[in-house]
Amino acid sequence: MENICVLLTYPVPEYLVQELEKRFTVFKFLEVASNPQLLREISNSIRAIVGTAVCGADAGFIDALPKLEIVASYSVGFDKIDLVKCKERGITVTNTPDVLTDDVADSAIGLALATLRRICVCDRFVRSGKWKKGEFELTTKFSGKSVGIVGLGRRGSAIAKRAEAFGSSISYHSRSEKQESNYKYYSNIIDLATSCQILFVACALTKETHHIVDRKVIDALGPKGIIINIGRGAHIDEPELMSALLEGRLAGAGLDVFEHEPEVPEELLGLENVVLQPHVGSDTVETSVAMSDLVIDNLEACFQNKPVLTPVI
Ligand code: NAP
Repeated sequence: MENICVLLTYPVPEYLVQELEKRFTVFKFLEVASNPQLLREISNSIRAIVGTAVCGADAGFIDALPKLEIVASYSVGFDKIDLVKCKERGITVTNTPDVLTDDVADSAIGLALATLRRICVCDRFVRSGKWKKGEFELTTKFSGKSVGIVGLGRRGSAIAKRAEAFGSSISYHSRSEKQESNYKYYSNIIDLATSCQILFVACALTKETHHIVDRKVIDALGPKGIIINIGRGAHIDEPELMSALLEGRLAGAGLDVFEHEPEVPEELLGLENVVLQPHVGSDTVETSVAMSDLVIDNLEACFQNKPVLTPVI
Protein backbone atom coordinates (compact mmCIF):
# COMPACT_ATOMS: atom_id res chain seq x y z
CA MET A 1 0.00 0.00 0.00
CA GLU A 2 3.05 2.30 0.17
CA ASN A 3 2.18 3.68 -3.26
CA ILE A 4 -1.26 4.82 -2.21
CA CYS A 5 -1.25 8.58 -1.64
CA VAL A 6 -3.08 9.99 1.37
CA LEU A 7 -3.68 13.69 2.01
CA LEU A 8 -3.89 14.92 5.58
CA THR A 9 -6.06 18.05 5.63
CA TYR A 10 -5.21 19.23 9.12
CA PRO A 11 -2.71 18.45 11.89
CA VAL A 12 -3.53 15.17 13.64
CA PRO A 13 -1.73 13.47 16.56
CA GLU A 14 1.81 12.29 15.79
CA TYR A 15 0.80 8.67 16.42
CA LEU A 16 -1.66 8.77 13.50
CA VAL A 17 0.90 10.43 11.23
CA GLN A 18 3.47 7.73 12.07
CA GLU A 19 1.01 4.88 11.54
CA LEU A 20 -0.12 6.38 8.22
CA GLU A 21 3.48 6.85 7.08
CA LYS A 22 4.25 3.18 7.85
CA ARG A 23 1.60 2.17 5.30
CA PHE A 24 1.00 4.96 2.77
CA THR A 25 2.63 7.90 1.03
CA VAL A 26 1.43 10.80 3.12
CA PHE A 27 1.11 14.46 2.11
CA LYS A 28 0.21 17.18 4.61
CA PHE A 29 -2.05 19.80 3.08
CA LEU A 30 -0.56 22.63 5.15
CA GLU A 31 2.88 21.79 3.69
CA VAL A 32 1.85 21.27 0.05
CA ALA A 33 -0.61 24.22 -0.07
CA SER A 34 2.27 26.69 -0.39
CA ASN A 35 3.73 24.76 -3.34
CA PRO A 36 1.28 25.04 -6.29
CA GLN A 37 3.39 22.85 -8.57
CA LEU A 38 3.54 20.00 -6.03
CA LEU A 39 -0.16 20.46 -5.35
CA ARG A 40 -0.91 20.05 -9.07
CA GLU A 41 1.39 17.01 -9.28
CA ILE A 42 -0.16 15.14 -6.38
CA SER A 43 -3.81 16.01 -7.04
CA ASN A 44 -3.95 13.24 -9.65
CA SER A 45 -2.62 10.60 -7.30
CA ILE A 46 -4.43 11.28 -4.02
CA ARG A 47 -6.76 8.35 -3.28
CA ALA A 48 -7.62 9.15 0.33
CA ILE A 49 -8.23 12.19 2.51
CA VAL A 50 -7.79 12.01 6.26
CA GLY A 51 -9.84 14.87 7.69
CA THR A 52 -10.77 16.09 11.16
CA ALA A 53 -13.66 17.82 12.95
CA VAL A 54 -12.07 21.14 11.93
CA CYS A 55 -11.18 20.43 8.32
CA GLY A 56 -12.84 17.79 6.16
CA ALA A 57 -13.50 17.90 2.42
CA ASP A 58 -15.71 20.45 0.69
CA ALA A 59 -17.00 20.21 -2.89
CA GLY A 60 -14.09 22.20 -4.38
CA PHE A 61 -11.52 20.04 -2.64
CA ILE A 62 -13.23 16.82 -3.76
CA ASP A 63 -13.50 18.06 -7.36
CA ALA A 64 -9.78 18.82 -7.38
CA LEU A 65 -8.94 15.17 -6.59
CA PRO A 66 -10.17 12.97 -9.47
CA LYS A 67 -8.79 9.71 -8.00
CA LEU A 68 -10.28 10.18 -4.53
CA GLU A 69 -11.85 6.96 -3.17
CA ILE A 70 -12.28 7.61 0.56
CA VAL A 71 -12.56 10.42 3.10
CA ALA A 72 -11.64 8.91 6.47
CA SER A 73 -12.38 11.43 9.19
CA TYR A 74 -10.56 11.48 12.51
CA SER A 75 -13.81 12.63 14.19
CA VAL A 76 -17.34 11.45 14.78
CA GLY A 77 -18.94 14.60 13.33
CA PHE A 78 -18.94 14.83 9.53
CA ASP A 79 -20.42 18.31 9.11
CA LYS A 80 -17.20 19.46 7.39
CA ILE A 81 -17.53 16.85 4.61
CA ASP A 82 -19.71 17.42 1.55
CA LEU A 83 -21.64 14.14 1.73
CA VAL A 84 -23.79 14.94 -1.32
CA LYS A 85 -20.70 15.41 -3.47
CA CYS A 86 -19.10 12.23 -2.06
CA LYS A 87 -22.26 10.25 -2.82
CA GLU A 88 -22.35 11.61 -6.39
CA ARG A 89 -18.73 10.57 -6.92
CA GLY A 90 -19.10 7.19 -5.16
CA ILE A 91 -16.53 8.18 -2.53
CA THR A 92 -16.63 6.27 0.76
CA VAL A 93 -16.83 8.36 3.94
CA THR A 94 -15.93 7.00 7.38
CA ASN A 95 -15.83 8.51 10.87
CA THR A 96 -14.71 7.36 14.33
CA PRO A 97 -17.89 6.84 16.39
CA ASP A 98 -18.17 5.05 19.75
CA VAL A 99 -14.47 5.11 20.70
CA LEU A 100 -14.72 8.73 21.86
CA THR A 101 -18.17 8.66 23.45
CA ASP A 102 -16.97 8.14 27.04
CA ASP A 103 -14.43 10.97 26.89
CA VAL A 104 -16.91 13.51 25.54
CA ALA A 105 -19.52 12.50 28.12
CA ASP A 106 -16.91 12.71 30.92
CA SER A 107 -15.96 16.14 29.63
CA ALA A 108 -19.60 17.28 29.55
CA ILE A 109 -20.12 16.32 33.18
CA GLY A 110 -16.80 17.97 34.05
CA LEU A 111 -17.96 21.19 32.40
CA ALA A 112 -21.27 21.10 34.29
CA LEU A 113 -19.48 20.59 37.62
CA ALA A 114 -16.90 23.26 36.81
CA THR A 115 -19.60 25.76 35.84
CA LEU A 116 -21.91 25.14 38.82
CA ARG A 117 -19.18 24.69 41.46
CA ARG A 118 -17.03 27.42 39.86
CA ILE A 119 -13.96 25.20 39.91
CA CYS A 120 -11.86 27.42 37.60
CA VAL A 121 -12.77 30.55 39.60
CA CYS A 122 -11.88 28.69 42.82
CA ASP A 123 -8.53 27.74 41.31
CA ARG A 124 -7.78 31.38 40.42
CA PHE A 125 -8.92 32.46 43.92
CA VAL A 126 -6.36 30.20 45.59
CA ARG A 127 -3.52 30.99 43.17
CA SER A 128 -4.01 34.75 43.47
CA GLY A 129 -3.75 34.66 47.25
CA LYS A 130 -7.31 36.02 47.69
CA TRP A 131 -8.13 33.12 50.05
CA LYS A 132 -5.93 34.72 52.72
CA LYS A 133 -8.23 37.76 52.69
CA GLY A 134 -11.56 35.91 52.96
CA GLU A 135 -13.69 32.89 52.18
CA PHE A 136 -14.94 31.97 48.70
CA GLU A 137 -18.61 32.61 47.91
CA LEU A 138 -21.22 29.81 47.93
CA THR A 139 -21.68 27.93 44.67
CA THR A 140 -24.53 25.86 43.15
CA LYS A 141 -25.23 22.15 43.68
CA PHE A 142 -25.11 19.72 40.72
CA SER A 143 -26.48 16.54 42.32
CA GLY A 144 -30.24 16.25 41.92
CA LYS A 145 -30.59 18.98 39.27
CA SER A 146 -32.91 18.15 36.37
CA VAL A 147 -31.00 17.49 33.18
CA GLY A 148 -32.23 18.06 29.61
CA ILE A 149 -30.33 16.56 26.70
CA VAL A 150 -30.60 17.75 23.11
CA GLY A 151 -29.83 14.64 21.02
CA LEU A 152 -30.10 11.29 22.83
CA GLY A 153 -27.58 9.58 20.55
CA ARG A 154 -24.35 7.92 21.64
CA ARG A 155 -23.02 11.00 23.41
CA GLY A 156 -26.35 12.11 24.85
CA SER A 157 -27.04 8.63 26.25
CA ALA A 158 -23.59 8.48 27.85
CA ILE A 159 -24.18 11.88 29.49
CA ALA A 160 -27.59 10.69 30.72
CA LYS A 161 -26.05 7.57 32.29
CA ARG A 162 -23.52 9.69 34.17
CA ALA A 163 -26.10 12.31 35.23
CA GLU A 164 -28.30 9.52 36.65
CA ALA A 165 -25.48 8.69 39.05
CA PHE A 166 -25.76 12.29 40.32
CA GLY A 167 -29.44 11.71 41.12
CA SER A 168 -30.63 13.85 38.23
CA SER A 169 -33.96 13.39 36.48
CA ILE A 170 -33.35 13.10 32.73
CA SER A 171 -35.38 14.32 29.79
CA TYR A 172 -34.44 14.79 26.17
CA HIS A 173 -35.32 16.16 22.77
CA SER A 174 -34.37 14.53 19.48
CA ARG A 175 -36.09 13.87 16.16
CA SER A 176 -37.73 10.71 17.39
CA GLU A 177 -38.72 9.23 20.75
CA LYS A 178 -36.42 6.42 21.87
CA GLN A 179 -38.68 3.53 22.85
CA GLU A 180 -35.82 1.77 24.63
CA SER A 181 -35.29 4.70 27.01
CA ASN A 182 -37.20 5.52 30.21
CA TYR A 183 -36.31 9.21 30.02
CA LYS A 184 -39.03 11.77 29.33
CA TYR A 185 -39.21 12.80 25.68
CA TYR A 186 -40.07 16.29 24.43
CA SER A 187 -40.76 16.71 20.74
CA ASN A 188 -40.19 20.45 21.22
CA ILE A 189 -36.84 21.81 22.47
CA ILE A 190 -38.53 24.79 24.19
CA ASP A 191 -40.61 22.43 26.34
CA LEU A 192 -37.41 20.54 27.19
CA ALA A 193 -35.64 23.78 28.18
CA THR A 194 -38.63 24.89 30.30
CA SER A 195 -38.56 21.60 32.21
CA CYS A 196 -34.84 21.37 33.06
CA GLN A 197 -32.08 23.23 34.92
CA ILE A 198 -29.03 22.01 32.98
CA LEU A 199 -29.26 21.75 29.20
CA PHE A 200 -26.65 19.57 27.49
CA VAL A 201 -26.30 20.03 23.72
CA ALA A 202 -25.17 16.74 22.17
CA CYS A 203 -26.85 16.45 18.77
CA ALA A 204 -25.32 16.29 15.30
CA LEU A 205 -24.82 19.58 13.42
CA THR A 206 -27.15 19.80 10.44
CA LYS A 207 -29.12 22.55 8.71
CA GLU A 208 -31.97 21.82 11.14
CA THR A 209 -29.83 21.98 14.30
CA HIS A 210 -27.90 25.13 13.32
CA HIS A 211 -28.71 27.62 16.14
CA ILE A 212 -31.12 25.10 17.67
CA VAL A 213 -30.37 26.89 20.94
CA ASP A 214 -31.69 30.40 20.26
CA ARG A 215 -33.08 33.21 22.41
CA LYS A 216 -36.39 31.39 22.94
CA VAL A 217 -34.64 28.26 24.22
CA ILE A 218 -32.31 30.30 26.46
CA ASP A 219 -35.24 32.25 27.92
CA ALA A 220 -37.19 29.01 28.46
CA LEU A 221 -34.24 27.65 30.47
CA GLY A 222 -34.27 30.84 32.53
CA PRO A 223 -31.92 32.80 34.82
CA LYS A 224 -31.01 29.79 36.99
CA GLY A 225 -30.28 27.53 34.03
CA ILE A 226 -26.95 26.53 32.56
CA ILE A 227 -26.03 25.31 29.09
CA ILE A 228 -23.27 22.81 28.36
CA ASN A 229 -22.25 22.48 24.71
CA ILE A 230 -20.10 19.55 23.65
CA GLY A 231 -21.70 19.24 20.18
CA ARG A 232 -20.68 21.94 17.71
CA GLY A 233 -20.39 25.70 18.21
CA ALA A 234 -23.04 26.51 15.59
CA HIS A 235 -25.71 24.74 17.64
CA ILE A 236 -25.90 27.90 19.75
CA ASP A 237 -26.68 31.43 18.62
CA GLU A 238 -23.54 32.87 20.26
CA PRO A 239 -24.57 36.58 20.35
CA GLU A 240 -27.84 35.55 22.04
CA LEU A 241 -25.93 33.38 24.52
CA MET A 242 -23.60 36.27 25.36
CA SER A 243 -26.36 38.80 25.90
CA ALA A 244 -28.26 36.32 28.11
CA LEU A 245 -25.15 35.74 30.23
CA LEU A 246 -24.37 39.46 30.46
CA GLU A 247 -27.98 40.40 31.29
CA GLY A 248 -28.39 37.64 33.91
CA ARG A 249 -31.05 35.81 31.86
CA LEU A 250 -28.88 32.66 32.08
CA ALA A 251 -26.78 31.53 35.06
CA GLY A 252 -23.82 30.09 33.20
CA ALA A 253 -22.39 28.03 30.38
CA GLY A 254 -19.73 25.38 29.86
CA LEU A 255 -18.50 25.42 26.27
CA ASP A 256 -16.15 22.99 24.54
CA VAL A 257 -16.98 24.27 21.05
CA PHE A 258 -17.48 27.65 19.38
CA GLU A 259 -19.08 28.88 16.19
CA HIS A 260 -15.85 30.28 14.67
CA GLU A 261 -13.15 28.18 16.33
CA PRO A 262 -10.48 28.96 17.35
CA GLU A 263 -11.96 32.48 17.60
CA VAL A 264 -13.87 32.95 20.84
CA PRO A 265 -16.05 36.07 21.31
CA GLU A 266 -14.14 38.65 23.38
CA GLU A 267 -17.10 39.16 25.73
CA LEU A 268 -17.06 35.49 26.78
CA LEU A 269 -13.42 35.77 27.87
CA GLY A 270 -14.31 38.31 30.53
CA LEU A 271 -17.20 36.36 32.07
CA GLU A 272 -16.68 34.43 35.34
CA ASN A 273 -19.85 32.35 34.88
CA VAL A 274 -18.55 30.49 31.83
CA VAL A 275 -16.02 27.68 31.54
CA LEU A 276 -14.23 27.50 28.20
CA GLN A 277 -12.44 24.54 26.61
CA PRO A 278 -10.54 24.51 23.28
CA HIS A 279 -12.63 21.70 21.64
CA VAL A 280 -10.92 18.96 23.63
CA GLY A 281 -13.98 16.86 24.53
CA SER A 282 -12.46 13.66 23.17
CA ASP A 283 -8.78 14.59 23.40
CA THR A 284 -7.18 11.99 25.66
CA VAL A 285 -4.12 9.94 24.81
CA GLU A 286 -6.10 6.70 25.03
CA THR A 287 -8.93 7.83 22.76
CA SER A 288 -6.62 9.47 20.26
CA VAL A 289 -4.89 6.08 19.75
CA ALA A 290 -8.25 4.31 19.40
CA MET A 291 -9.48 6.92 16.87
CA SER A 292 -6.22 6.72 14.91
CA ASP A 293 -6.39 2.91 14.76
CA LEU A 294 -9.96 3.15 13.47
CA VAL A 295 -8.92 5.61 10.72
CA ILE A 296 -6.15 3.21 9.67
CA ASP A 297 -8.46 0.16 9.78
CA ASN A 298 -10.99 1.97 7.58
CA LEU A 299 -8.34 2.97 5.03
CA GLU A 300 -6.87 -0.54 4.92
CA ALA A 301 -10.29 -2.13 4.51
CA CYS A 302 -11.14 0.28 1.68
CA PHE A 303 -7.94 -0.42 -0.25
CA GLN A 304 -8.26 -4.19 0.30
CA ASN A 305 -11.79 -4.00 -1.15
CA LYS A 306 -13.32 -5.09 2.17
CA PRO A 307 -16.27 -3.39 3.91
CA VAL A 308 -15.08 -0.37 5.91
CA LEU A 309 -15.68 -0.60 9.66
CA THR A 310 -17.55 2.64 10.34
CA PRO A 311 -19.15 3.95 7.15
CA VAL A 312 -21.03 7.23 7.04
CA ILE A 313 -21.85 6.59 3.36
P1 NAP B 1 -25.25 10.25 17.21
O1 NAP B 1 -25.18 9.02 18.02
O2 NAP B 1 -25.46 10.16 15.75
O3 NAP B 1 -26.40 11.17 17.85
C1 NAP B 1 -26.83 12.35 17.25
C2 NAP B 1 -28.13 12.80 17.90
O4 NAP B 1 -28.51 14.03 17.27
C3 NAP B 1 -29.31 11.83 17.75
O5 NAP B 1 -29.90 11.64 18.99
C4 NAP B 1 -30.27 12.58 16.83
O6 NAP B 1 -31.61 12.35 17.11
C5 NAP B 1 -29.94 14.02 17.17
N1 NAP B 1 -30.41 14.91 16.12
C6 NAP B 1 -30.11 14.90 14.81
N2 NAP B 1 -30.84 15.84 14.16
C7 NAP B 1 -31.62 16.44 15.10
C8 NAP B 1 -32.59 17.47 15.05
N3 NAP B 1 -32.92 18.07 13.91
N4 NAP B 1 -33.17 17.84 16.21
C9 NAP B 1 -32.87 17.23 17.37
N5 NAP B 1 -31.96 16.24 17.48
C10 NAP B 1 -31.34 15.84 16.35
O7 NAP B 1 -23.92 11.13 17.38
P2 NAP B 1 -22.94 11.21 18.65
O8 NAP B 1 -21.87 10.20 18.52
O9 NAP B 1 -23.73 11.25 19.91
O10 NAP B 1 -22.26 12.66 18.37
C11 NAP B 1 -23.08 13.82 18.35
C12 NAP B 1 -22.26 15.01 17.91
O11 NAP B 1 -21.32 15.35 18.91
C13 NAP B 1 -21.41 14.76 16.66
O12 NAP B 1 -22.15 14.92 15.46
C14 NAP B 1 -20.35 15.81 16.80
O13 NAP B 1 -20.73 16.99 16.13
C15 NAP B 1 -20.30 16.09 18.30
N6 NAP B 1 -19.00 15.70 18.88
C16 NAP B 1 -18.28 16.62 19.61
C17 NAP B 1 -17.05 16.26 20.16
C18 NAP B 1 -16.25 17.21 20.98
O14 NAP B 1 -15.06 17.00 21.15
N7 NAP B 1 -16.83 18.27 21.52
C19 NAP B 1 -16.54 14.99 19.94
C20 NAP B 1 -17.28 14.10 19.23
C21 NAP B 1 -18.50 14.45 18.69
P3 NAP B 1 -32.44 11.12 16.43
O15 NAP B 1 -31.84 9.89 17.04
O16 NAP B 1 -33.84 11.31 16.84
O17 NAP B 1 -32.20 11.21 14.97
